[in-house]
Parts: sequence; structure tokens; C-alpha cells
Amino acid sequence: MKIIIAGAGIGGLTAAMCLHRAGHDVTVYEAVSEMRPLGVGINIQAGAVRILCGLGLEPALAATAIETRELRYANRHGQTIWADPRGRHAGLPWPQFSIHRGELQMILVHAAREMLGADRIRMGRRIADFAQHGATVTARFADRDGAIVEEATADLLIAADGIHSAVRARYYPNEGPPKWQGILMWRGVTVGKPYLGGNTMVQAGHHNQKFVCYPISRAHAERGEALINWICDLHMGDGALPSREDWNKRGRLEDFLPRFADWNFGWLDVPDVIRNAHTILEFPMVDRDPLPRWSHGRITLLGDAAHPMYPIGSNGASQAILDGEAITQELAVGDDPEVALRRYEERRLPPTARIVESNRRKGIDVMLDIVEQRAPQGFTDLESVLPSDELEKIVGDYKKLVTQDRETLLKLAAASM
Ligand SMILES: Cc1cc2nc3c(=O)[nH]c(=O)nc-3n(C[C@H](O)[C@H](O)[C@H](O)COP(=O)(O)OP(=O)(O)OC[C@H]3O[C@@H](n4cnc5c(N)ncnc54)[C@H](O)[C@@H]3O)c2cc1C
Repeated sequence: MKIIIAGAGIGGLTAAMCLHRAGHDVTVYEAVSEMRPLGVGINIQAGAVRILCGLGLEPALAATAIETRELRYANRHGQTIWADPRGRHAGLPWPQFSIHRGELQMILVHAAREMLGADRIRMGRRIADFAQHGATVTARFADRDGAIVEEATADLLIAADGIHSAVRARYYPNEGPPKWQGILMWRGVTVGKPYLGGNTMVQAGHHNQKFVCYPISRAHAERGEALINWICDLHMGDGALPSREDWNKRGRLEDFLPRFADWNFGWLDVPDVIRNAHTILEFPMVDRDPLPRWSHGRITLLGDAAHPMYPIGSNGASQAILDGEAITQELAVGDDPEVALRRYEERRLPPTARIVESNRRKGIDVMLDIVEQRAPQGFTDLESVLPSDELEKIVGDYKKLVTQDRETLLKLAAASM
């Protein structure tokens, strides 16, 4: 089938390669005219790395990323609440990768150009309008000045155009801006000293004031340093959504550093990491309500266009990657493509909607809030604050929800052998 994908982000490019490998004739149209390595760190869960490995990308990813060994939750005093081995360190056949989002995006775009042909990733082409006539979809693409520069006709249109999706807005014109519950995030990268073995992701504090960090560069690790990606979350009250919600607004230290001034854990000096950042970006933590439908005839949504979610539990990119595999598998059945797109939606919409909703209720971070409420000054015996059966239930339920539970992943491993 001839397939148009709008958006060359992590979701769009992965879907393009999966579909190409399955024999489809795919062209990706991207709004920006030049691919630049934007963003800071991102985590790809083992279940999604599985799909990237299947596309032959493991060597490129492993050359730049950190293979995450452990995910550690701690209170704001740095005391460990829960530590979980990840990826291969948990006995899975794939690693979890902590990586610079820009580098991941560049790896994907190079691979997609090689696989599909360079002219199949069409830059400077923002989807402007589209229509379905019988069994075909026609889309028109505009340059940055709004002039229509290309028109394409295909059997299917997949919109992977991110949280501000133009295609989604056409189907849901009254949806409005993304939803915000008052949390601002400052993200940065800092060259610092390795902590906790140099491959640990840390989530510390509680929902309204949280510090997340993980190293993202193998090259730095080989030099005995750590390129630490970090995020400070602060609840700022229930005001209106700040007008800019792009990923590139410069953050100011004075707006958030004082709140973390005494967060020295011994094994990690949080204010020191923040102070030494060479990039700080600020943006609101936003998502959107789950939709009743993604697929409309021969047009469907994928990734953040379909299910933008709070970045809790490192799911945004991983779920977008899983979408690309699911749509490819449903089209492989070979029946009516409209039925296949509906099956893709039935398979992916309910679980991603549950993650959106769970993350709004703090997702797995709920353990942090429980410990903060019950022992704000820290604890000497975690068991008396958060008994292990209560903790195991929180973790087990969330892992099942995001299909990161061991049983599901091992089943996938067996199926891919
Ligand atoms: C610039 C940028 C920086 C980011 N930085 C981070 C980060 O540091 N950490 C993190 O965890 N997540 C980050 N994200 C979000 C993260 O990439 C996504 O949550 C996740 O990977 C899902 O990917 P996606 O492909 O669905 O969406 P996205 O990664 O948002 O990709 C959407 C793509 O569609 C393009 N696009 C938008 N509108 C149109 C249109 N009308 N027509 C054609 N193309 C269009 C965009 O330019 C973009 O390339 C960033 C996203 C962007 C766009």
C-alpha cells in the first residue's frame, strides 16, 4: 500500500521503517525544513527497544546511549524507596536505553533515509489539509510560509504530527490546547561525576516537587564523566496554561533552584547538578484527554498525536514506537485497510488511554507521595512507612498497565525468536 506519514518524530519514523519492512510504499512529510537534534534526554523501555533492535538499530543506539541498569525511587532526602533492575539487567533480552532525544531522532532519520530512500523523508512539508475520496487519501503540504508546495495521494494517511497535531484538530476542532494541572518542568543536561554506577535513573521527591535524572551519553561515560539529563518538576498552582508550550523556552535558575537548594543526597548533589547545566529548558507538563476514536476511514493517529501523556514512567516515546509495530501488524492481516486501522485503534487506544489517566493520578509516582505524606522527615524503617506488599502492588499494577511486566515482555521475547 501507498502510505503517507505526517511527522518525522520518533513515532513517525519508527512506523515508517516498520511499514517499509513489511513491503509498503511509505513517504514521510515533516514540517521543519531541517532535522536538528532537539530536546534533552529520553528513555526507551526494553519493550520498545525490542522494535528498534528488529530494525537493526541496536549498534547505533548502543554506541551513543547509556544502557540503563537500574531505576531508583527515593524520597527528597535521597533515601531509597524502590530500586528495579532494567532491561538486560532484569534478565530481558533487550536493554533499556537512556539517550539524548536529538541523537535518537538523528539515528532514526539516518536509518529511515537509508531504508526508504532519502527522497522519502520530505522536509519543510507541514500537512495543511487532507481529504478522503473512496479508497484514496489526498494530502497537501505547506512550507513555513504557508504556501502549498506538494500534494500526494495514497491509500492511507497516518498522522504522527505530535501533541499539536493538525490532523487531530481537524477531527476534534473544539478540543483546544493541551491540558495542564499546574506542574512546570525544567529540563537540563549537565556534565558531572557519575553517580550510582553511572547507569541509574533516579526519581526523587514527590509529585509536586520532583527531581529526575539519568546519564545519557556513552562517550562521556568512557571518559569517566556523566552527561546527566535532569528534570525538576514543581507544582505552581492552578493558574492558566502558560502561553508557550514548545520545548525550547529557556529556563531560569532563579525560578526553581531555590526549592531544591538543600537536596544533597550524599551520592548526588542535586543543586550542584542543576547549577552546572549548560542548557535549561522550561515547559508545562501537559497531556490531552483520551479520544473516542483515532481512525476515520483511511486516516489514523499515532504517537503523541493520538495519546500525549505526562512524562511519568518514561512512556511517551516507547508507546509511540509500540504504535508503529501495531499498525504494521494489523495491516499485515491483508484485509480491508479501514478494518485494519480500526483494529489498530482497538488494540492501542484503550491501553494508552489507561496510561494517560493513570499518569494524571500520578502513575507509579504515587509511591513517592505516600512516603512523603507518611514520613516527610525521612524514615529509618521503610517497611513501617510503606509495607512491601503495598509497594509491590503499586509497582505491579503500573508495570502491567504499561506492558512492562516481566511476563508480557518474556512472551514478546519468545514470539520474536
Ligand atoms: C522538538 C521536540 C523536542 C522534544 N524533546 C523531548 C525531550 O527532551 N524529552 C522527552 O521525553 N520528550 C521530548 N519530546 C517529545 C517526545 O519526542 C514525544 O513525546 C515522543 O517521542 C512521541 O513522539 P512522536 O513522534 O509521537 O511526537 P514528536 O516527537 O513530537 O514528533 C512529531 C513530529 O511531527 C512534526 N510535525 C508537527 N506538526 C506537523 C505537521 N502539521 N505536518 C508535518 N509534521 C508535523 C514535528 O516537527 C515533529 O518532528 C520532544 C518533542 C519535540 C517535537
